[in-house]
Amino acid sequence: MSGKIIDGKEIANSIHESLKNEIEELKSKTDKVPGLAVILVGDDKASHKYVSMKEKACKKVGINSVVYRLDANTTEEEVLELIDKLNKDEDINGILVQLPLPNGIGEKKINANILPSKDVDGFHAVNTGKLFLGEEGFLPCTPKGIIKLIKSTDIEIEGKNAVVIGRSNIVGKPTALLLLRENATVTICHSRTRNLEEHIRNADIIVSAAGVADLVTETMVKDKAIVIDAGINFKDGKLVGDVDYINVKKKASWITPVPGGVGPMTIAMLLENTVEAFKKKWS
Ligand code: NDP
Repeated sequence: MSGKIIDGKEIANSIHESLKNEIEELKSKTDKVPGLAVILVGDDKASHKYVSMKEKACKKVGINSVVYRLDANTTEEEVLELIDKLNKDEDINGILVQLPLPNGIGEKKINANILPSKDVDGFHAVNTGKLFLGEEGFLPCTPKGIIKLIKSTDIEIEGKNAVVIGRSNIVGKPTALLLLRENATVTICHSRTRNLEEHIRNADIIVSAAGVADLVTETMVKDKAIVIDAGINFKDGKLVGDVDYINVKKKASWITPVPGGVGPMTIAMLLENTVEAFKKKWS
């Protein structure tokens, strides 16, 4: 048996299509389109690439994106001033500050100053608190996309053993909370976990978000597990995830490729959150 591929690119494209239609409808009703402001500080190559991809996706669905490319010497105060301006701007429904930020600009302070109603990345404490409490708020994009990918398989999450590898605030922890919300039994693993293999072997659903190539191998994976690979690593000049894809695919029931799995969904969820923010304001 060989696992079926969860095609994140295709799923993301169908989300883009329905968002495009929804935005056209919203435009005809309100005479406005959703607006997303993206702040990029410094010259991190990968960040520039991610921002261009987000810009392109916005254009595709009809979201007005405004990108502020600021040089690496920009001060925290200047970024906070810009956020303040964007918080007050009625044409801007979502504000995203691309991470990582250069030294001297505090991520926590930046996130705290974005209005929770415009926090389409879902990193503000109000939105993370709502996620913790099981209340409605903006969900962080990668975890939200991961749940959609699992649901696309039509395999029920409820009652399943799920293992999340990674406990960051942006991927691991929120993914674990969302799986718990779906009534999975969730184990969170991290760099201090003993017997990682044992935990993974017990899992019906594996989400890897560690950023370590070849961390999850065939022998660790239970037959017919669903394997979601959020990792982004470079190995021998090639983009790979955390999972030994070729071999794990033989055992899994469903598996995401890298690239073309979680990545496109992260962007699709950003667009979805921006449209959600627009609707909360105007309709
Ligand atoms: P972090 O570096 O913040 O977190 C990595 C987590 O993995 C930590 O909790 C760490 O444990 C854990 N970890 C590291 N090594 C091991 C190991 N050998 N065994 C078990 N756990 C381990 O990364 P992020 O959460 O920001 O991102 C995770 C991965 O996902 C990265 O590759 C990143 O590039 C990718 N990513 C992909 C996105 C997408 O859209 N596809 C979006 C965001 C991230 P500890 O806490 O103990 O240090």
